[in-house]
Amino acid sequence: MSKLGNQTSETPVKSGGGHTAILIGLVLGIVLGIVAHKIRQSGPGGESLVAAMVSVAEPIGKLFLRLMQMVVLPLVVSALFLAVVDVGDMRKLGRIGLTTLFYTAILSFSAVLIGITLVNIIKPGLAISEETRTTLSEQYMGKAIDSVKKAEQAKTLGQTLVDMLPENPIQEMAGAVDGSSKGNGMLAVMVFALMCGIAATMKLEQTSALTGTMRGLYEISMTIIGWALKLAPLGAGCLVFSVTSSMGLEILKALAAFMGVVLGGLAIQLIVVYSVVLKTLAGRSPVAFFRNISDAMFVAFSTSSSSATLSTSLKVAQEQLHLKPETSNFVLTVGATGNQNGTALFEGVVVLFLAQVFGVDLSPGQQFTVVLMAILAGVGTAGVPGGSIPLIIVVLKSVGVPGDGIAIILGVDRLLDMSRTLINVVGDLVVATCVSTSMGDRDSSAASPNVG
Ligand code: ASP
Repeated sequence: MSKLGNQTSETPVKSGGGHTAILIGLVLGIVLGIVAHKIRQSGPGGESLVAAMVSVAEPIGKLFLRLMQMVVLPLVVSALFLAVVDVGDMRKLGRIGLTTLFYTAILSFSAVLIGITLVNIIKPGLAISEETRTTLSEQYMGKAIDSVKKAEQAKTLGQTLVDMLPENPIQEMAGAVDGSSKGNGMLAVMVFALMCGIAATMKLEQTSALTGTMRGLYEISMTIIGWALKLAPLGAGCLVFSVTSSMGLEILKALAAFMGVVLGGLAIQLIVVYSVVLKTLAGRSPVAFFRNISDAMFVAFSTSSSSATLSTSLKVAQEQLHLKPETSNFVLTVGATGNQNGTALFEGVVVLFLAQVFGVDLSPGQQFTVVLMAILAGVGTAGVPGGSIPLIIVVLKSVGVPGDGIAIILGVDRLLDMSRTLINVVGDLVVATCVSTSMGDRDSSAASPNVG
């Protein structure tokens, strides 16, 4: 067994909180948020009462989020470094990489196809009146202009490739967290960690101290995540409370058809596509699988961030799905940024929806371009709340739809972000399970009665 596997199984960190407790926290957060929204509308007294409640809930939610975010960087670097060192064989690593790419492409393609089919059948864009369009555009134009500015900084493909190699890894690491990176942020950090891992594999003796340090860093990060998960019922509840209490119910009504298409598409990907893939390609029972990964699903839903959920995904992969860490750590860490099926579906739907709203007729050829761009944009989207918005603007402009039209959907973005992030994270765990199966890599030391 790998050193990483030995090490982590010697110091297991139990999933804290418990699935039921987190679920109760989430449901309470949503229900109280909706009640608070009603109270807010009842007058100035209600407004200040809800403001006081939010001022308590928001910092608690943010603390939970910070605990998760705090360990993302050390975890990405140590998990990828150790995955390479522990696999040891570069040919095997290449096979893991290619198999991951294969499953990522298939699942993203199916997601976008589902979204685009639904949008073409239901045509939610035609349900938006001229008046609603103007009201929503005016209301969210400020935010939209910020996003358009970000999208305008989009780099050429050549520069994106060059930026895969960080000029200054330390600067890139700092930038990957606060969004100020000059290069490709987290992607560049990953390339750096992978290259260090490959070099260390070639000089095992001379680098054993560094490998030990990386193992320490990994264990520390996982232990902190164990603490964060204990806070999850309260933290996740507070996060969703803040979202629902400030969300206008009117906007939900105005965009009901659009939201229905996005949520319906995500549900098909989750319930049908993932279940079939798990059953046929990994021989797993989908029901047991979803039960085992529920902690990761709840954290993804409440944080809207694949990156912040990475640590929880690594934990459930190891402790609940019993995947060997050297394979699953590699696939999940790369997948948190590179495999975003829910986001790809969302991006495709938004572009076609806004094309319908603005009366831009897209030919089948243009729609196919949207499919490809949505898949690629899914790969390039940062795993943070709203990470996909600037990329959607790029795709919108490429097919002749005004970029600032994004304002129309910004009011419901957070709610949809929670849902698509959940699909992104489940997609990563499905890919990790399939890749582990095709590598013959299930952790035999910990066979679980729960798994397929
Ligand atoms: N919030 C998503 C994630 O972290 C990215 C996005 O779709 O905006 O996976």
